[in-house]
Amino acid sequence: MKILITGGAGFIGSAVIRYIIQNTDDSVINLDKLTYAGNLENLIKVSDSNRYFFEQVDICNRTELERVFRQHQPDSIMHLAAESHVDRSIDGPSAFIETNIIGTYKLLEVARAYWQGLDEMRKQTFRFHHISTDEVYGDLPHPNENGQALKHLFTESTAYEPSSPYSASKASSDHLVRAWRKTYGLPTIITNCSNNYGPYHFPEKLIPHIILNALHGKPLPIYGTGDQIRDWLYVEDHAHALYQVVTKGRIGETYNIGGHNEKQNIQVVKTLCTILQELRPQEARYEDLITFVKDRPGHDRRYAIDASKIERELHWKPKESFESGMKKTVQWYLDNTIWWQRVLNGDYQLTRLGETNQE
Ligand code: NAD
Repeated sequence: MKILITGGAGFIGSAVIRYIIQNTDDSVINLDKLTYAGNLENLIKVSDSNRYFFEQVDICNRTELERVFRQHQPDSIMHLAAESHVDRSIDGPSAFIETNIIGTYKLLEVARAYWQGLDEMRKQTFRFHHISTDEVYGDLPHPNENGQALKHLFTESTAYEPSSPYSASKASSDHLVRAWRKTYGLPTIITNCSNNYGPYHFPEKLIPHIILNALHGKPLPIYGTGDQIRDWLYVEDHAHALYQVVTKGRIGETYNIGGHNEKQNIQVVKTLCTILQELRPQEARYEDLITFVKDRPGHDRRYAIDASKIERELHWKPKESFESGMKKTVQWYLDNTIWWQRVLNGDYQLTRLGETNQE
C-alpha cells in the first residue's frame, strides 16, 4: 500500500511514518508544509528508506495537491496536517482557520476527484482517514464539583461543543469530512484522540515544556490551579492505533482513541519532577520550581475518552502505562539534547503563549 500522510513531519505524523516504515511493507508519501512544528529530523531513522518520499507542500495549495496525487497515486490518505496548539490559536486564529478548515476542504476536494477516477478495485479499498482530537467534544464534568463526574466519558456519539479556536477549527474539519462521506460517498473514517505525549514533541506543549524548563532550572508554569484533567496517550501507541484504523476500520465510522490515563496537570508535572530526580539527580528539588500562573482563557477542565469501540472492533489497546510512557519520554529528552537544542535555536524559546487581556 502507498499511503499519503499529511503533516508527517510533525509530532504524531512522524511517529506514524516511523511505525509504518519500521513495521510494514507499505510506502509513505509525507506531504508537509514544514511550519514551525514540522521537523524533518523527526524522520531521520526512516528517511533513507526507498519506501519513503517527501513533498514540501501546503494543503491549501490545490494545484500542488493535484500534482502530488497524480505523481504518487496513493492508495489511502491519513490527514494529520494541522495547526495544533491551543495557546497559539488564542494569539492568532487565522492560520487555524486556513489550514484546519480551508486546507481540509481543499484536500477533500482533490481526494474526491482522484478517488472518482480510480478503477473499481482501488476505489473500494481507498480510505480518507481524518485525524482529529477529543477537544471537539468540549468540557466534561470535573470530580471537584461533581462526585459522579468520572462516570462521564466522551463516546463517538457525544455532541460537539468546542471551546477554543483550535478545537472549533478541528470540529469544523470533522463536519466537512462527514459531509463528504454522506454527500459524495468518499470513503472517510475519523479518529478523535486524547492528549499525546512522547519523543519528538515540540516544547510548547505541557510535557516537553516542563522537562526542558526543569533541565534549564527555569520555573515550571502551571495554568490556574493545575486541576485540569487530560487522558494521556503515548504517541507510539497512537501511531499503532491509527494504522489499525486506516487498514481495518469501517468506512463512515468514528473511533475514539485514549490512553486510559486521566491525570490532573499538577499530577503530570509532579510525576515528571520525580522521574527527573531519579534519572538526573540534583541537590535542589525540581518540584520547587513549580509556579502557578494565570489560567488559559476558555480552558476546559476535563477530557476523558471511552476507547471501548476501537478495542472491541479493532482489538487495539495502549501498551504503555502512564508511568512507563512518562519514564521513556523523560529518558528520550535526556538522550536527545541535540534534537531539542536545535529546536530551541529556532523561533520558540520556551516562552508563554496564549495570554489575552481577557479577565
Ligand atoms: P504538530 O503541530 O506537531 O504537527 C503538524 C504538522 O502539520 C507539522 O509538521 C506542520 O508542518 C504540518 N502543517 C501545518 N500546516 C500545514 C499545511 N497548511 N500544509 C501542510 N502541512 C502543514 O501536530 P501533532 O501534535 O502531530 O498533531 C497531528 C494531528 O493530530 C493534528 O491534526 C492534531 O489536531 C491532531 N491531534 C493532536 C493531539 C496531540 O496531543 N498532539 C491530540 C489529538 C489530536
